[in-house]
Amino acid sequence: MSLLKIQHIEKSFGANHAVKGISFELGSNELLALIGPNGAGKSTTFNMISGQLRPDGGRIDWNGQSLIGLSERQIAQRGVSRTFQIAQSFGSMTLLENVQVALLCADDELLSFWHPLAKHKREEAMELLEWVGLESMASKLSAELSYGDVKRLELAVALASEPQLLLMDEPTAGMAPAERHQLMALISRLVHERQRTAKPLSVLFTEHSMDVIFGYAQRVLVLAGGELIAQGSPQEVRDNARVQAVYFGGGRTFQEGQS
Ligand code: ADP
Ligand code: MG
Repeated sequence: MSLLKIQHIEKSFGANHAVKGISFELGSNELLALIGPNGAGKSTTFNMISGQLRPDGGRIDWNGQSLIGLSERQIAQRGVSRTFQIAQSFGSMTLLENVQVALLCADDELLSFWHPLAKHKREEAMELLEWVGLESMASKLSAELSYGDVKRLELAVALASEPQLLLMDEPTAGMAPAERHQLMALISRLVHERQRTAKPLSVLFTEHSMDVIFGYAQRVLVLAGGELIAQGSPQEVRDNARVQAVYFGGGRTFQEGQS
């Protein structure tokens, strides 16, 4: 059975029909890319799954139960988590503290003055930092991190709630190619390694860079003008005539379509 089953979801902003009845499924342990030109409806689709936006119509079922109408927090508690940008104010905390706070939030535990953070969830937080390769920087302040390392910290924070599905909207935006590949290789390794554990992880991500899509996505969904115009393996999608028309109407090749 698929983990996530989306049927005919719709969303309009006034007269702008941003998502026009999209259906797709996502299975356990999948690394699925959602691609398409700017304005295609990718973020709107993400925001409907994570509960930030309520669809105007259609169904979103997770493990056989509807997510529609649930709050973002309730959806996260059911195992669907999204990466958030680490806010500036958390820059004054160390990496370890950032992950400790995320673990406490996931458990609904409240911090109190007289229980110093240092005592809480230290080992679990270190384990998560190890997963993302930041353990040696645990006591650094988050504000001191490079852009690529911040993204890895955001990933550790998102993993604190032990999601079954991680939603990543443009995780590599603004990254240099080397950093981009490092982050995607890490995500891909997480998905792969969780396969053999009791906590399989699926990832749905949007991405502009073709080398990332071809290098890491197991399956690709293509949105254009609020409609799903193609889905399949990266190869199948690249060879699809409708996809080529959308991306290369201007005569560019697929690889040159977007960088
Ligand atoms: P993508 O992520 O694929 O670039 P979006 O989902 O952000 O596309 O946007 C799809 C369409 O919906 C665009 O025309 C965009 O202008 C519009 N849109 C997205 N979010 C909002 C919003 N909060 N209010 C009004 N229009 C929006
Ligand atoms: Mg977007």
